[in-house]
Amino acid sequence: MKNLLGGKGANLAEMSSLSIPVPPGFTITTEVCTTYNEIGRRAVIALLKEDVENAVAAIEGVMGTNFGDSENPLLLSVRSGARVSMPGMMDTVLNLGLNDESVLGLVKRTKNERFAWDSYRRFVQMYGSVVLGMKPETKEDEDPFEEIIDRLKAKRHITLDTQFAVQDLQDLVYDFKDAVKKSTGHDFPTDPWEQLWGSVVAVFNSWNGNRAIVYRKINGYPSDWGTAVNVQAMVFGNMGENSGTGVCFTRDAGTGVNEFNGEYLIDAQGEDVVAGVRTPQQITKMGSERWAKLARIEETERFEAYPSLEERMPKIYKELYAYQEQLEKHYHDMQDMEFTIQNGKLWILQTRNGKRTGAAMVKIAMDLLKEGELNEKEALLQIEPNKLDELLHPIFDTKALKRANVIAQGLPASPGAATGKIVFFADEADKFKNTILVRIETSPEDLEGMHLAKGILTARGGMTSHAAVVARGMGKCCVSGAGALKINYKKRMMTVGEQEYHEGDWISLNGSKGHIIEGKVATMEPSLSGEFGELMELSNKFTAMKVRTNADNPKDAQIARNFGAQGIGLTRTEHMFFEVDRIKAMREMILADTVKGRKLALEELLPMQRSDFEGIFEAMNGYPVTVRLLDPPLHEFVPHQLATQKELADDLHISLAAVKNKVAELQEFNPMLGHRGCRLGITYPEITEMQTRAIMEAALNLKAKGIDTKPEIMVPLVGTVAEFESQSKIIRETAEVVFAENEDKVEFTVGTMIEVPRAALIADAIAEKADFFSFGTNDLTQMTFGYSRDDAGKFLSVYLAQGILKNDPFEVLDKEGVGQLVNLATKLGRSTKPNLKIGICGEHGGEPSSVAFCHDSGMDYVSCSPYRVPIARIAAAQAAIK
Ligand code: ADP
Ligand code: MG
Ligand code: MG
Repeated sequence: MKNLLGGKGANLAEMSSLSIPVPPGFTITTEVCTTYNEIGRRAVIALLKEDVENAVAAIEGVMGTNFGDSENPLLLSVRSGARVSMPGMMDTVLNLGLNDESVLGLVKRTKNERFAWDSYRRFVQMYGSVVLGMKPETKEDEDPFEEIIDRLKAKRHITLDTQFAVQDLQDLVYDFKDAVKKSTGHDFPTDPWEQLWGSVVAVFNSWNGNRAIVYRKINGYPSDWGTAVNVQAMVFGNMGENSGTGVCFTRDAGTGVNEFNGEYLIDAQGEDVVAGVRTPQQITKMGSERWAKLARIEETERFEAYPSLEERMPKIYKELYAYQEQLEKHYHDMQDMEFTIQNGKLWILQTRNGKRTGAAMVKIAMDLLKEGELNEKEALLQIEPNKLDELLHPIFDTKALKRANVIAQGLPASPGAATGKIVFFADEADKFKNTILVRIETSPEDLEGMHLAKGILTARGGMTSHAAVVARGMGKCCVSGAGALKINYKKRMMTVGEQEYHEGDWISLNGSKGHIIEGKVATMEPSLSGEFGELMELSNKFTAMKVRTNADNPKDAQIARNFGAQGIGLTRTEHMFFEVDRIKAMREMILADTVKGRKLALEELLPMQRSDFEGIFEAMNGYPVTVRLLDPPLHEFVPHQLATQKELADDLHISLAAVKNKVAELQEFNPMLGHRGCRLGITYPEITEMQTRAIMEAALNLKAKGIDTKPEIMVPLVGTVAEFESQSKIIRETAEVVFAENEDKVEFTVGTMIEVPRAALIADAIAEKADFFSFGTNDLTQMTFGYSRDDAGKFLSVYLAQGILKNDPFEVLDKEGVGQLVNLATKLGRSTKPNLKIGICGEHGGEPSSVAFCHDSGMDYVSCSPYRVPIARIAAAQAAIK
């Protein structure tokens, strides 16, 4: 029904069938909108004319008024409503049907001059803005109607619309009409039918307005959906002291607590409550008292000036309370409702499933389950997995955020909130107590500093840039790719437009929105309420896939375990080499000219790697751990600054020239496609040997302590069977040597990443040799699209804005293209090895729609950063239920 009638129209129809008082009306379907786009205004009006006239006549019958009548006019509201709510797409036109004659009829019938002229001036303004295109395009442009209102208010020395005298309202109507004539060259239409068709067509047109097109593209809604048009009799909240209008929620949208709440205004219409000119009043007495306390308003003043609806109109309140209960029960979800009171009679104008915070989402779903309103599957399906993120990171105080000055926008790379003083160098991240590390981009050398900083901000790089991936793994707030920042490392400052920000200045980051905020914003700890745990427990009942984590150290492994991860799907061994004591040995290894020299350096690294693995295996006690052999190009490990190059030369007792030579030698034009992955292990087999030895010795040491480990060794960047076989042979032979030395053994497997398109194409042959597959979808996406992960930020934002891509493919798995390779490789792999274990370890493993894809393609597990484990668990359960 929503597809045809739009969300608003469908719910209005449903409410009226539940005998809830909804003003009579009708809905022109979304199909008509599509037809309009094909046949145009004149033909569509001809098509609709008879039906619409009959429908209006039916409303007249119910209301006892006549559309276009000058004595007893029926007034209408014309409202848009797509399948899904599309905020800001189009405004509503209220009080349609008024003209210079019928306004007098309205005065006579209602004996309320003020009300009639107030309605009229509202109508002319709305019609002018929405239908005649006089709404300003940008924030800078003046709204011609608001200008007229402001001028008159200044003249009368008043601040509120309600303070206008009748004469003022009449003046507004005439001034508005003059403005219309000036702007459009035509008189304001007096014929109600012309007004009605004008509004209907304006709603249709809004579907193809720029704003709506952009909104659709971003959200992936097809352009052929169209919008419905709701035409409805007006009910009036602006008839005086016995009338009003408001919005309400069946539960608290911030906390989820089951408390009816909302706001209203006496003698008001439409969006007055949210417009912020008058102070809205609370609906419940409890809410009103709570509000007064925060606003520091004494009880006597509260009761006199801002009484709750419960106190002011107890009968209406009771009725409203009953409807909200009924509607929530009917929709089995928290409702967000709009209502109007006309002369002591309550009308419901809208209901929809209310928007809510992550915390409220969890609480409401679990409460509805306990109340018997939802069954277990329904409760799980009500969770938007991504919103759980809010529960896993520190958050800004909502009130503080309202006053925040957002100076620039970047990508919401890692959610959460961070406030700190600016530092521009990773090794100075502890210069102040709380710091935000601001970099053009980050590199593995910055790891320690990133860890120390409260948040990370980069001018370059996308959602899978180094900064973004590492920050998400750390659960640290990060905004990446903020192109508006100009960073000057030398002067230790950055500029945004004209404004300068220096080292030590306070800034704040909203990692969930990508906002960069000037100054300090208060944060609060997230509250992991009991319902959250219950929800995760519930998901286990339904999940088919396992959820593992990507973790490179025992701490992350432990965090992920606490979030319910069942193993590690990816341990990146390179991160282990960046710590101060190790990077030196690593550089020695790289700079060695001989195999012997290299082996000596690797021997230094061996015990360090071994103890790292012991820590990780121990944290994952009993669960599988996939370790990936060294992957990144070696040039990432050598120093690029003169000072550090000198230091290294001194350390190793070699000439600076030799160091520089080696660095130049390692330089690659295209490191992403260069000497990395298994290509390293093939050219430097000693590295693979050392890593295998470290893994096996760690496992044996733990075994001696009674801790069960089952390492899964993973070869990166394989594109041919021979590549895999070369590495697999070294691994197996090294393992045998270690086992012989120790006279003991552990079980292990050797598998491969599938991240080069060629590997996906020959997956049947690879599967004959490999024990498991793990899709490295970051690289697979990079190579399938031919977009460099490190450079894509420059054009991806344009692609997304223009709708050339619907999603950032590094964030949401591209099912259409990359997904085909995944499905193909899965099918081919299992054709030669039917129970081949298959998982994913790219960033996509924590993205809900990608998790659903993985489920459908038959994977055994997904693996994601620790803080996304709960999200993946819910997404996996939902995929299994659907
Ligand atoms: P939105 O989609 O932005 O919520 P609506 O179509 O709900 O827009 O209209 C905005 C407001 O106009 C409503 O909240 C309500 O206050 C008012 N309104 C709409 N239809 C009517 C009506 N039939 N009678 C009185 N007020 C109405
Ligand atoms: Mg509404
Ligand atoms: Mg890779």
